[in-house]
Amino acid sequence: MAISWALPVLGCQLKNRPPRYNPPHTLRCFPDIQLDNVAVLWNLAPLITVLFLAAATQTVKVDRYPLRSGCDASDPVVTTLHAGDPVQIKFSLAGAAQPCYVVSATVDGKLVDGNLPADALTGLDDFERSRRDAAPVSASPATNIQHPTSNNLPLKSTSPEMDRAIELLNRNQPAEALGILQKFHELFPSNAEVLALCGTAAYKSDNLRLAVDYWKQSLDLHADPTVDRAYKAALRESDNDKSSEKRFGTRFLLRYDGAVADSDTAHTMIAMLEEEFSRVSFQIGCRADERIAVIVQSREAYLKTTGAPGWSGGNYDGKIHIPLLDSKQPVAATRQVFAHELVHACLANIGAWPLWLHEGLAQRLSGEQARPGVQEAIKQLAKDGKLPKLAGLGQTWGNKSTADAQLAYGIARAAVDLFYQYHAEFGVRNLMNNPAALPGITDDLDRRLRE
Ligand SMILES: [Zn+2]
Repeated sequence: MAISWALPVLGCQLKNRPPRYNPPHTLRCFPDIQLDNVAVLWNLAPLITVLFLAAATQTVKVDRYPLRSGCDASDPVVTTLHAGDPVQIKFSLAGAAQPCYVVSATVDGKLVDGNLPADALTGLDDFERSRRDAAPVSASPATNIQHPTSNNLPLKSTSPEMDRAIELLNRNQPAEALGILQKFHELFPSNAEVLALCGTAAYKSDNLRLAVDYWKQSLDLHADPTVDRAYKAALRESDNDKSSEKRFGTRFLLRYDGAVADSDTAHTMIAMLEEEFSRVSFQIGCRADERIAVIVQSREAYLKTTGAPGWSGGNYDGKIHIPLLDSKQPVAATRQVFAHELVHACLANIGAWPLWLHEGLAQRLSGEQARPGVQEAIKQLAKDGKLPKLAGLGQTWGNKSTADAQLAYGIARAAVDLFYQYHAEFGVRNLMNNPAALPGITDDLDRRLRE
């Protein structure tokens, strides 16, 4: 069946965009990187780190002390704790007559959460000292770019559940992450950061209405410009998205506009996505633990909902967005668009990888041809000693000129081709299993690109 797709065109304009969350938000042709929504997660990292900072050395000072569901003496009693019972402090809350701590304790083998005032606890000096001394454990986006092998969100809280939720968000398992975050939300309903993370998980789960709702609640509590951008982008997406038809595959949720694709076309697309995912995941070694959302819409709606520039032919931001045209484009081209975006999704599910590796692999594994003239330009730059290093290409190509962006794509492709030449077909799987090898491989490829 002939399905038509908007293909990227040459000479596209790139928008200047601020630094972003990793994994790089990627477009098929050139990265436009519109990942405002997921950037929320990224920018919240330092906040959450502070929020969930805890030390495990506190104990209950007073025997038969009531653990309450709030800081007030009139709040309901959850359970009774005994002198010497260890508790883990999750938060300290200011504003009450004396500091109040949100703690968890194990009672009869079960973990319970509640609040204790300062005078019911020992070991608070240690807690306050560790809080003062703690350097933020999360790296800034800039740091992360220099260490692309670190996790997407190199954030460690001392709440194992929160760690897990963030890990799940990084690995594109937003539904499971949302389940955990919603429990945190129940415990701390007025916490703007938890609400913002819930919004991110809902967005990545393709539950736009819920994402908008969480982000709105978060903003009502705390005006954060990043959350505000994500909220407005989600509103725009929800206002313009007519893709209400759904079809489920084994690993995909295809949401499409019934006016631009019929049921047969949707069936064909799902089958194609499954086939391409099998092929790409076999080569890269990734899994799809949750269904990947693929949104297919008219070109007009695509541009309006994603805010992507007119030249873009596909977009991955945790969900795959594809514009569909109404005329006849060969199935092979459709397959190529899917494959390109699936490489991004696949890599993002494994970890944080530099954009050059993303785009190089996406071009190669989708079978795109190198652009004419670019290889010659790379050779000439290498000869003149002016070829940028791979790490120097950065994680945000949106601020490059069109020519520089084409060059970045070309260098990425050339580097990945060289990688395959020297590491064979299984090399990429080995690399995925051993991200610590990436800096050495990058140096080696930089050298070979100059030979
Ligand atoms: Zn791409």
